[in-house]
Amino acid sequence: MQAPDPSSVLDLIEAFRRSKTMFTAVRLGLFDLLDEAPATAEQLAARSGTQPEPLERLLEGCAALGLLNRRDGVFSNTDLARAYLTRSSPRSLAGYIRYSDEALYPLWGRLQDAVRQGGPRWQQVFGARGSLFDHFYRTEEARADFLGGMHGLGLLSSPAVVRVFNLSAYETLVDLGGGTGHLAVAACERYGRMRATVFDRKDVIEPARRRISASPARERIACVAGDFFQDPLPRASLYAMGRILHDWDDARCAGLLRRVHAALEPGGAVLIAEMLLDEDRCGPASAAMQSLNMLVCTEGRERTESEYRALLEAAGFVDVEARRTGAPLDAILAHRKE
Ligand code: SAM
Repeated sequence: MQAPDPSSVLDLIEAFRRSKTMFTAVRLGLFDLLDEAPATAEQLAARSGTQPEPLERLLEGCAALGLLNRRDGVFSNTDLARAYLTRSSPRSLAGYIRYSDEALYPLWGRLQDAVRQGGPRWQQVFGARGSLFDHFYRTEEARADFLGGMHGLGLLSSPAVVRVFNLSAYETLVDLGGGTGHLAVAACERYGRMRATVFDRKDVIEPARRRISASPARERIACVAGDFFQDPLPRASLYAMGRILHDWDDARCAGLLRRVHAALEPGGAVLIAEMLLDEDRCGPASAAMQSLNMLVCTEGRERTESEYRALLEAAGFVDVEARRTGAPLDAILAHRKE
């Protein structure tokens, strides 16, 4: 029998090298420096505190990955790098890349221990104690990277999530654990009569206000600080939960959904934005990888449509409908039982 083509295994062996090349270039601020002016490796080395020869190898690696151009020894950003890898771009994913490099990369280094013992790896890797989000917000820089990352990824999904269902009947939205408020912004920009409240921990409110102030819908979006497991939840006709349930185990999700159900007005609904796993949980690969990511850094997991349906119905919701959006996050809409 002929041996199978090894190329996908070879690709998986070196996949982390590609990630780390991009992570390192972002961490060194190379795309930001090149955004100011194209430069040679020598010039960039002087400005980034690096050695010219190894830096040139890193720049060539970035060029090989389609992130940089080189002409006559001068490097410049490709359109891709300008849009997603510079900090000043409105679409920047640099925060998520920094968070991936500083936090996720070391946590994934302990995946084997997570599989053997279960549970997130923060304490093992960083000696950190306290609640999950205390780790994410442990320093101002860590908070900025995490929220910047959530924001950059959220911008890729929220417009599709609020479009895939017709939400025009709902006039009040609470974006629960709304982070920087990109979902509330996308919803209010699409539905002109909607007013929204971003409800999140108090350490998130100031960065959320800053991001929301850039939206033409800012006058219709308020921010409220609170603990969604304990504090009273505002009344609304629509609740959104973007990447909330995947952080928690089934028992915590059930409690949270019951609280949301109780806070909804009659006729109200909950909109969930998450990556949906296929029913056999073996794909899509991005959702399966995200579920492993949840293993090393949270108490949660990604779920299938049936698993979300079971959680929602147990909390009293009916008419549960899931839709793929074509964006990184899918959407589920479920209605409050009268
Ligand atoms: N929904 C946002 C998004 O999609 O970008 C943020 C998702 S992030 C994975 C989870 C959010 O839940 C964070 O903004 C976090 O601060 C918030 N959160 C976690 N625990 C919370 C709690 N007990 N009360 C309120 N918000 C909380």
